[in-house]
Amino acid sequence: MPMLEPRARSFKHDAFDLEVSTLGWGMWRFRGDDLAHAQSLVESALEAGITLFDTADIYGPDNGEPFGASETLLGRVFEAQPSLRSQMVLASKGGISIGVPYDSSADYLSGAIDASLARLKTERLDLWQIHRPDILTHPQEIARTFEDAHKAGKIGAVGVSNFTTAQIETFAHFNTVPFVSSQPQFSALELTPALDGQFDQSLRMGLLTMAWSPLGGGRIANPSTEREQAVAKTLDTVASEFGVSRTAAAYSWIMAHPARPIPIVGSQTPERIREASDCYKVSWSRSAWYDVLVASLGEELP
Ligand code: NAP
Repeated sequence: MPMLEPRARSFKHDAFDLEVSTLGWGMWRFRGDDLAHAQSLVESALEAGITLFDTADIYGPDNGEPFGASETLLGRVFEAQPSLRSQMVLASKGGISIGVPYDSSADYLSGAIDASLARLKTERLDLWQIHRPDILTHPQEIARTFEDAHKAGKIGAVGVSNFTTAQIETFAHFNTVPFVSSQPQFSALELTPALDGQFDQSLRMGLLTMAWSPLGGGRIANPSTEREQAVAKTLDTVASEFGVSRTAAAYSWIMAHPARPIPIVGSQTPERIREASDCYKVSWSRSAWYDVLVASLGEELP
C-alpha cells in the first residue's frame, strides 16, 4: 500500500524567509530556578534537530510563577550561553492580560513586545503571535502595531493562535507585514482544525501551522478514558511496526496532514525531548492514519 509522504526535518518558509524545523519545542511548562537544567532542556531540543522555539509572556502563572517567568528563564539561558539564541527561530506570544482577559490594543501589544524582548534579552523576535483573539480590537489597529514593531526591527514576522478561520482571513486582509503562522490546538485527541476548515485555510494561505498540545497535554502518553485508550491503541499499532514510542507516532500522525502541522513538543524531560525526533522514522498508510481519526471521533466514517 502506498505510504503518505514522510516529513523532512526542516524546510524554508518563503514568507518567513527562515529555515524552520518541522518539530517545535514549547515553553508553557518551562519553569524553575535551575539554570543548568533549563539550558540542558534547550540543548536537548537542539540535539533533536528542533530549531523552532515557542514561548509566551503568559507562561509562568500556570506553573505558580509570575507573568513572564518562562521568558525570563530563557533570557537567563541566553545570557549564560549567548550562542544558543542564534541557533533557533524564536517565537513568542502576547495579548493575554490576567483579569482582562484579552488585549490587542496598540498600547498594550507594543508594550508587550518590548517587555518580551527585555525579558528574553534579545533584540528581535523572529515570530510574534497574538495568543488569543481580542474581539474588541479592530484588526487594522493590530496591523499598525505590527507594522511599527516590524519597521523598528523588533519582530521579523507575525502569527496568530486560537483564531477562527474568519478572524484569520480578516486579520490577513488588514495586515501589512509577513504573516506566517497560525497556532491551533491539534492532536489525535483534538481534531478541530482538520475538520473545521482551518488547515485548508493554512494550505491556501501558505501559513506555517503550529500544533499546540500535540499529546493532548500528556493524555496520549497516559490515556485514561475509553476514547483516549482507543486512540492510544491505534497509535501503538504503528509505533510497534516502526519500533518507536507511541508519542513519536503521535507527532508523526500530526505531521502527515498535508497542512504539515508542526507539533510543539511540550515535554520538559531531556530524554523525551530528544526522543521526539523518532517521529521521522514513521510512515503512515492512509488506512492506519484514518484508523486513528476514527478512534478519536468514536464513530465510523460514512
Ligand atoms: P503535550 O506534548 O501535549 O504535553 C506535554 C506534557 O505531557 C508534559 O507535561 C509531559 O511531561 C507529558 N508527558 C507525559 N508522558 C510523556 C511522554 N512519554 N513524552 C512526552 N511528554 C509526556 O504539550 P503541552 O505541554 O500541552 O503543549 C506544548 C506547547 O504548546 C506548549 O509548551 C506551548 O508552547 C504550546 N501551547 C500553546 C497554547 C496556545 O494557546 N497557543 C496553549 C497550550 C500550549 P514531562 O514534561 O514530564 O515530560
